Amino acid sequence: MILFDTHFHYYREYGPSEYFAEAEAEGVKYMLAAGGGYKETLDAQYFASQNKNCWFAAGVHPHGASEFNDDIMRFAEFRKDEKLVAVGEIGLDYYYEHSEKKKQLDVFAEFLAFALECKLPAIIHCRDKEDSEEAYFQAYNLLSAFAGRGGHFVVHCFTGSVKWAEKFLELGAYIGITGIITFPKAENVRDVLKMIPEKRLLLETDAPYLAPIPHRGKKNHPKYLKGIALKAASVLKIDFDQIAELTTANAFSFFKIPQHRK
Ligand SMILES: [Zn+2]
Repeated sequence: MILFDTHFHYYREYGPSEYFAEAEAEGVKYMLAAGGGYKETLDAQYFASQNKNCWFAAGVHPHGASEFNDDIMRFAEFRKDEKLVAVGEIGLDYYYEHSEKKKQLDVFAEFLAFALECKLPAIIHCRDKEDSEEAYFQAYNLLSAFAGRGGHFVVHCFTGSVKWAEKFLELGAYIGITGIITFPKAENVRDVLKMIPEKRLLLETDAPYLAPIPHRGKKNHPKYLKGIALKAASVLKIDFDQIAELTTANAFSFFKIPQHRK
């Protein structure tokens, strides 16, 4: 049983080796640290440099879009690192709207162009206010153009409707499922899980956020991915080993990590 946590956030104050060892002891042998801004991308890069089976992504989370001042050149430096396997997380967050929408859209579009230029897949964050589909519509439009130009992406921590999952899947999207799947009210996420083609499913913790039940409310950690995988296997009525094998293989293929590095 080997799992791949395809999305978590690493901060320098966590010890890199202990952090990884704790996850590995729970079967999480591979991990990708997402970049939520320049500083966090440096931390993610550091984590990847300390652990053979870890990789990182570079990007600016929509929350921090207002602090991004067109310094994409700084991000271009990360391309020299072979552990860089994706651009993200990037996208739109109209739920919290920490950055104004126009700025979020501009930064998102700029990083999608960067992903195309680097020929790297993108990790997408998309969240709307209740009863609104504005972020989904706008993200869809940008991603449709991105996919049309050969771009690949995962909609990470998917919490939208089956309808939106279908639309993104038509663009070739992968879908990332987190510990939200264990929450009693998240029936929509369990419904989405059932309709994701098996080759497009990725598992992730989004640690330190969104700890799954029974750890809900505590600080999340990649070691809890096993509980998420168990829940996903039970929703899909398949074996745990099957989902572990499938989602790990999907992660290697999505991030184009050469097989010899497994
Ligand atoms: Zn995240």
